[in-house]
Amino acid sequence: MFLCVKFHMKYICIIFVFVFLPSVYAQEVSYDSRKNHFIIQNNLGEKTEYETPFYILRSEKEYPKIVIDACIHGDEVAGAFACDSVLKYLNVTEGTVVLIPRVNIKSFNQGTREVNIDLNQVFPGNFKSEIYEERLAYDFMKLIEVLEPNVVINLHEAWTRFNESLYERQKDKSFGQVIITNKDTFPVFLTNVLANINSQVNDKENVFRIQYFPYKPNHSMDNIIEKLKTPSYTIETLRILPLDERITYQIISILAFIEEAGIKFTYDR
Ligand SMILES: [Zn+2]
Repeated sequence: MFLCVKFHMKYICIIFVFVFLPSVYAQEVSYDSRKNHFIIQNNLGEKTEYETPFYILRSEKEYPKIVIDACIHGDEVAGAFACDSVLKYLNVTEGTVVLIPRVNIKSFNQGTREVNIDLNQVFPGNFKSEIYEERLAYDFMKLIEVLEPNVVINLHEAWTRFNESLYERQKDKSFGQVIITNKDTFPVFLTNVLANINSQVNDKENVFRIQYFPYKPNHSMDNIIEKLKTPSYTIETLRILPLDERITYQIISILAFIEEAGIKFTYDR
């Protein structure tokens, strides 16, 4: 099925296909003549109360592939708005970037961390649960499994700036302006990303650090790493900063990870 519509003097063709993901639902594929990639749009939790869109920005060459998710905690909004900007301005020339801007869209819409239970602590989820967050966690894991990315980046926000002495006392607390890993040795991939991000942070007070966060069996990132054997890291921006600064830091971080993953792109704002 083909549908071409005239849009801002440019023709954008929309095709409805059934082949890209093993889903019973139609997926919308769109082409924009200004971009090298095409976009496959679908929903996580299709036809459920927690249905939320995701976007696959794919070039002709599928790999390397990265997944970026935001709003596992609905009130940590900078990552969601950063994803919106990346969706708009990124041009992928080689590889695939998948954006899930509002994983827990119900909690995002009501401006709270969660609705019933902390989504980030109920992984790998349970498709039979009466609590929707547990079903969402299950669906989220299935989606990552099907997408088979090289790396998954989770966008979060925290209230407290990273502080060495505080961290020594509380290693299982998320701090702001950090990249979180569950390994206590840091791979070159991660130190390169950190150097890239910090080369763009002008205010020295807001430079990022790598934070080792001990393994938690029900945590989303740890389940992606352990069950799906996929590297995963978490970005935490500092929530006391103005929203526009946090969004900028999230965009810088997303692009640094995309670049280090080996994906070729341009970003034109
Ligand atoms: Zn969070």
